[in-house]
Amino acid sequence: MMRQFELVERVRAYDPSANEDALNRAYVFSMKAHGAQKRASGDPYFSHPVEVAGILAQMKLDGASIITGLLHDTVEDTVATLEDIERLFGPEIGRLVDGVTKLSRIELQSDQTKQAENFRKLVLAMSEDIRVLLVKLADRLHNMQTLHYIKDGEKRRRIARETMDIYAPLAERIGMHRMKDELEDLAFAELYPEARQSIKARLAFLREKGGELVPRIIAALDQTLKNGGIANASVSGREKAPYAIWRKMQRKNVGFEQLSDIMAFRVTVDTVEECYHALGILHSAYPVVPGRFKDYISTPKPNNYRSLHTGIIGPERQRIEVQIRTRDMHEVAELGVAAHWTYKQDRPKTEGKQYRWLRELLDILEHASGPEEFLEHTKLEMFQDQVFCFTPKGDLIALPRGATPVDFAYAVHSQIGDTCVGAKINGRLVPLRTQLVNGDQVEIVTSKAQTPSPTWERFVVTGKARARIRRFIRTQQREQYLDLGKTILQKAFRQEGHDFTEKSLESVLKQFDCPTVEDLYLAVGEGVRTGREVVHAIFPQKAEGKAGKVVPLRARKSKSQENAVPIRGLIPGMALHFAGCCHPLPGDRIVGIVTTGKGVTVHTIDCETLESFANAPERWLDVAWKESGDAEHVHVGRINVTIGNEPGSLGSLTTVIGKNGGNISNLKITNRSLDFFEILVDIEVEDLRHLTNIIAALRATPVINSVERARG
Ligand code: MN
Repeated sequence: MMRQFELVERVRAYDPSANEDALNRAYVFSMKAHGAQKRASGDPYFSHPVEVAGILAQMKLDGASIITGLLHDTVEDTVATLEDIERLFGPEIGRLVDGVTKLSRIELQSDQTKQAENFRKLVLAMSEDIRVLLVKLADRLHNMQTLHYIKDGEKRRRIARETMDIYAPLAERIGMHRMKDELEDLAFAELYPEARQSIKARLAFLREKGGELVPRIIAALDQTLKNGGIANASVSGREKAPYAIWRKMQRKNVGFEQLSDIMAFRVTVDTVEECYHALGILHSAYPVVPGRFKDYISTPKPNNYRSLHTGIIGPERQRIEVQIRTRDMHEVAELGVAAHWTYKQDRPKTEGKQYRWLRELLDILEHASGPEEFLEHTKLEMFQDQVFCFTPKGDLIALPRGATPVDFAYAVHSQIGDTCVGAKINGRLVPLRTQLVNGDQVEIVTSKAQTPSPTWERFVVTGKARARIRRFIRTQQREQYLDLGKTILQKAFRQEGHDFTEKSLESVLKQFDCPTVEDLYLAVGEGVRTGREVVHAIFPQKAEGKAGKVVPLRARKSKSQENAVPIRGLIPGMALHFAGCCHPLPGDRIVGIVTTGKGVTVHTIDCETLESFANAPERWLDVAWKESGDAEHVHVGRINVTIGNEPGSLGSLTTVIGKNGGNISNLKITNRSLDFFEILVDIEVEDLRHLTNIIAALRATPVINSVERARG
């Protein structure tokens, strides 16, 4: 185990300004806190945080990271509290230790790695400070180095698989290739010991046979390119790690001997032209392995990776793979992890940010000058727009930031969303509008009797939740309209002295363009048709017999078309509609809007809907009411009424309208509170003056709070 002064010296060697006193205190604090605890190896537990701190020192990280490494297990595994840490080491260390502790807790919660991608994102999202992630990776590396001491094989394999699926890719993604290789190799050794052994043996055999091949091949390739006229190409190469070789053997389903890229070489040049030039030089200097050439420059991979790949029998008579790219492409390829990530994430708006972040990190790691300041100010910005939560079973659910338990419920299953009545976060009952945070365990309480509430729509953030809630409200509205339509029709039948039967409706379905009786109810309920209109269509003769009282629709239709249309300024033959938003009445100033295939829709001049046609003057039609003939038409005026919530108030409303000769064709409560109802009323009236009279009468009624005409 590294001793106190060794660690301090090591840190001081690359960071003379490190806080020696704090380092010493952290060392002692950790040693005391872990006391007599033992590792599986039999070593004192304290050796683990010291080794982790040592790994971090190798990475030349700042003092705060080293101290965090020393303290990283104290809160989770000893009696020390976060408050102790903050008090003794300050808020920055407190925050870092807290971050690492939280990461360790999610690790304990879920041992499934089938959701590795989500899990990796969760780890990143929770590592708000890059140093949290670096300490976590060092912690994992040391645990992997000492993995063989754990007796329980099941546990060993679980940890190794998690390392393979979660932590090695994370290390790769933040540009730590060495850490990644080491983690992968340790996990590989645990999971597939024989495969690793045989690959290592093969590699050793080849090395023995060929000596130090890689440097010789590099030199030869370099010379060949120079001879061919490319002066400033740089060539690099390496023997691939056993795990990478094994993966390739698996993916391509080939044996070791058939692998051409046990050694990988890379040529970087300045321009795209030089890429193809270099390719030509290599292809004419060495035999080409057929079927290995890939041009990712003219056809980049979906993650923007660009490069030429080829296989040749190289200068040492070995099959080798060569990648040729420009320096710009190389930079992207090194950050390919980021590009790949962004691509999968499909979040173009954050692309720049992630990319820049990784580029900076790589720069720092490569040049290793002054990482402290960089780490100090770098926050992990990735996935800050997402939040990751667990189901009670430990499944991970990824949601957009701001998501609530309702979003969570719908993400798990539509049925759970529809019947959700409450939610527990980490075991505590919370309001459904509560915003979820990373790592929350969410349990949804459901009830068969529950249905989606329109109020949910105000706080859900996922499309799925919103769509389901809206769909439910629409079906519910449909049912309300159905009921309303039926009620209006029954009333209309009664008023005209007929018995209501559904059968009689069937005879006029075609006339009203309704496939079924239900559709007719809907048309009436939604106010597209009036009850009176339908009754008159069914009983034309009889109604005509009662001439003078009501002029039936059929009678009107039998008159000349010109007379039937109460609007001047129309193109003959054009269909006419009155807008459902503003319900224009004779006497209103009006304007027509032409819609291709639909004819002319008449709006009142002050209708708010007209704003959407402001940029299409060619569709505006100057129209006006005809002076006469209006009385023959039934027009529907729409008003919004606010009445007090008290007995009889609705009765007063309908009585006043009736007394003034208005016929209610539709009535809908649009909003209700403890004290007031807001009601939308459609009234059949003769013209504007008729409606104005009714409005005046309503305003004079005590229980009625306010009356306004609907304005779109
Ligand atoms: Mn640890």
